[in-house]
Amino acid sequence: MKIMKLNSFGENMYDLIKKLYPICRSITGDGVRDTLKIISTDVPIKVKEVPSGTEVFDWVVPKEWNIKNAYIENSKGEKIVDFKNNNLHVVNYSVPVRKTVSLKELKEHLFSLPDHPDWVPYRTTYYDKNWGFCLSHSQLLNLKDEQYTVVIDSSLEKGSLSYGELLIKGTLTEEVLISTHTCHPSMCNDNLSGIAVATYLAKYLNQTENRYSYRFLFIPGTIGSIIWLALNEKKAKNIKHGLVLTGVGDSGSITYKRTRRGNAEIDRVTEYVLKNSEDNYSVIDFYPFGYDERQYCSPGFNLPVGTFMRSPHGKYPEYHTSADNLKFIRPEKLDDSLQKIKSVINILEENKTFVNLNPKCEPQLGKRGIYGAMNAVGEEKAKLQMAILWVLNLSDGSNSLLDIAEKSNCGFDLIKDAITILLKNSLLKEI
Ligand code: ZN
Repeated sequence: MKIMKLNSFGENMYDLIKKLYPICRSITGDGVRDTLKIISTDVPIKVKEVPSGTEVFDWVVPKEWNIKNAYIENSKGEKIVDFKNNNLHVVNYSVPVRKTVSLKELKEHLFSLPDHPDWVPYRTTYYDKNWGFCLSHSQLLNLKDEQYTVVIDSSLEKGSLSYGELLIKGTLTEEVLISTHTCHPSMCNDNLSGIAVATYLAKYLNQTENRYSYRFLFIPGTIGSIIWLALNEKKAKNIKHGLVLTGVGDSGSITYKRTRRGNAEIDRVTEYVLKNSEDNYSVIDFYPFGYDERQYCSPGFNLPVGTFMRSPHGKYPEYHTSADNLKFIRPEKLDDSLQKIKSVINILEENKTFVNLNPKCEPQLGKRGIYGAMNAVGEEKAKLQMAILWVLNLSDGSNSLLDIAEKSNCGFDLIKDAITILLKNSLLKEI
């Protein structure tokens, strides 16, 4: 099977991640806008703004959060924890604070990782008005019993939630959805990797002629997909296949999480690509936890959207910590993820169904010059001939190209070649 390895975009994607890494993102605010602005230099996404307070199914778009500065100062006036060094130091969505506190009170607002004493955890408080700081456990153990000044110069006000959307029109109105979350601050695998791979996939599809239309969503996790589905219920019906992209830059092998349906075309195509890739991979069934697949696969939508990742979220120690940094991801893994997704799309584009126009006994291939028309020789020629016989036999209108490739074991590309020859000889028709 053709894994398209013509160009490697690993370094380009890694460079994009380097640019986005320092930005403090959240589910709303200027960090997301800055991120979308950088993405839009590569692909023409439209930035949408949804006002705070907008009701979307059972949810309400939250107030917009922005932050300028945050720190903890000891009694000597030394900044011992500083947002400017690492934006993970502030619990994301912390309300503004400026006060002096005892060590005991401070500790109620501190988060660390005892098992990884040098790492800073990532914590959020989106829907619960609170404040806090994250720091390394070794630093927490060294805090003296004294008074501390805590400052969080943030704002939580009526504003809007921003997301990016791009529709690349194909000949069909039926769509392939690519969705990735943009709400995490300085962490690379989760989810700058998803953003970078989605951006380079969009860049590629923007230059090719496509059968399907492709919709890219760069959205904050959970609330973003709920907003899109609530505001675009009709359009959602056009989604025939979809992938959520997350954690696609670490050195683990690919994990594919099936759609809620479990046997959708996207499930079969992705599994086919992975099986034929000669790399390790795993496939897991849908479960209602994870990222935006939870919303796309909620029972009221049940869209055929799977999740494409490398190491699954929560299954690697660096997950949601400062150790998910630029060293944790690798350009060649980003590229491998991109190439495999391109292969999935390539098959989706080609996976049509045909009908044999001469179904009563085998057509006489020799008199049509089909054997001569094959450019292959020897073993290759025999394989192609076998593929032609499989296509003729299985093209009764109920088998797609992928069905034939799987049943015959001939390989997708060879079946495609056989179909091209039979179409030229008017022995097949696409239905
Ligand atoms: Zn996450």
